[in-house]
Amino acid sequence: MSTNQEGLGPLFRRLFPGRRFIVVSNREPYEHRWSEEVGEIAVRRPAGGLTSALDPLLQNLGGTWVAWGSGEADAAVVDKENRVLVPPENSSYTLRRVWLTQHDIHRYYLGFANQFLWPLCHLRPDLTRIRSRYWERYRRVNRRFAEATLEEARGEEAAVWVQDYHLALTPLFIRARRPDVTLAHFWHIPWPPIDIFRLSPQAPYLLRGLLANDLMGFHLQAFADNFLRCAHRLIGAEVDWDEHTVTLDGHTCHVCALPISIDVESFREIASRPGTEEQMERLRARYAPRGGAIGVGVDRMDYSKGLPEKFKALEFLWERYPEFRERFTYIQVAVPSRSDIEAYDSLSEKVDRQVWEINDRFGTDAWRPIHLIKQSLPAERLAILYRMADICIVSSLQDGMNLVAKEYVASQIDRQGVLLLSEFTGAAEEMKEAILINPYAPEDFALLVRDALTLPLEERRARMDALFAGMRTIFDWMNDVFTDWGGVVSGRDGSGVARGEFAIPAEMS
Ligand code: UDP
Repeated sequence: MSTNQEGLGPLFRRLFPGRRFIVVSNREPYEHRWSEEVGEIAVRRPAGGLTSALDPLLQNLGGTWVAWGSGEADAAVVDKENRVLVPPENSSYTLRRVWLTQHDIHRYYLGFANQFLWPLCHLRPDLTRIRSRYWERYRRVNRRFAEATLEEARGEEAAVWVQDYHLALTPLFIRARRPDVTLAHFWHIPWPPIDIFRLSPQAPYLLRGLLANDLMGFHLQAFADNFLRCAHRLIGAEVDWDEHTVTLDGHTCHVCALPISIDVESFREIASRPGTEEQMERLRARYAPRGGAIGVGVDRMDYSKGLPEKFKALEFLWERYPEFRERFTYIQVAVPSRSDIEAYDSLSEKVDRQVWEINDRFGTDAWRPIHLIKQSLPAERLAILYRMADICIVSSLQDGMNLVAKEYVASQIDRQGVLLLSEFTGAAEEMKEAILINPYAPEDFALLVRDALTLPLEERRARMDALFAGMRTIFDWMNDVFTDWGGVVSGRDGSGVARGEFAIPAEMS
């Protein structure tokens, strides 16, 4: 671990002298809501590693964050340009809000982004819904984000950092008007192999939108390679495999693998606060009244997380190894997510049913095998659960990174826990000392849970120490993004203007 948060502002100023810093994302860092007191407005900071890590950076640099104004009182606090200064207690940067109608939310966000791109990128084409009205609205909303960004750039030099799969077309819409702006984009989910990506009728336009960037970041080299292959085969872009660059219509985009991480210190600090040990004792008495080991899982209720597969493995464990009945209890935090989408709704029902059946089958008067907590918990409560848990199971079928795995290791103050990690997570590439599991093979999975529960303390410590030693932080990640991006910009000719033609295809407008 090397980079500290304070060093990032000066780094940015050195690499991008004179440029305004603009972050563009679907989610906003502050949401205004009507409070219980009539007429009063309260501010909420939506949970999420990225928003909480980028916020201090913007506070330090004083730029602009462009995002969807999703709070019910958001419109009441903005000026006539839809801007509000944040954070409320210490105005440091501008939050520029983009408004979405119910139709926008339904078609752009729940539709194209979450019922098309999300399942496609998580290798579930069977769950995609292709609707022309989703695509039409995705284009329109992406353009709106671009227009807001261009207004915020105010004709000055800017470095614009776009986040994620909600905004694949925004870079081209920006670039077509301002070739001098430098653009980076981070894609936080997997990029699928070409045989999956080409199922998208919009594949060429999504690629063109993203290739307008100067830098395109993915968590893994494998995702970057998939992207390059798609760009080459589907739209004829020229790929330099040694340099990891892709050129289309005269413009070159650099494609990098930059695995994200978490604010390690923050989790450690929370997990070692005074009183934590008493809280752990209380939790143990509540969830495992007969004593024994405790396992934890923390996931959104999403089909990519492999929850049914995990419970199937646990069922095998209690069935085949009865010595773990009443001696091993599992706590699963399953945060309700995208419940307006049918696939999520039916997953939630399936998980409820499965947990009910397992508890009915193995539970006793004094013991419940699985505790399902269907709500979102703040980091303060998660860190205590992580520290207390003897094992943590991450069973994703497909996952860009998985931050929970890293949060568990960061919170393991007592260095006695074991991480079981799906080999299909991005995190598995870095976290080799975890016990790697294949969620598709429930019997082998159950055996590995048994192994984890019987591992001698010495080995648990050695694995946990090695995992911790290998941890990088989210600030290291930002440092890497800025350094790679800055390298691309300084490599351009003196004008700083991107070369190339940036015409917007008719199908995109
Ligand atoms: N999280 C949270 N409260 C919860 C459950 C999860 O704040 O009750 C956070 C968790 O700490 C982690 C993030 O949600 O930072 C989940 O990130 P991950 O990469 O594991 O999965 P994603 O939900 O982004 O697919």
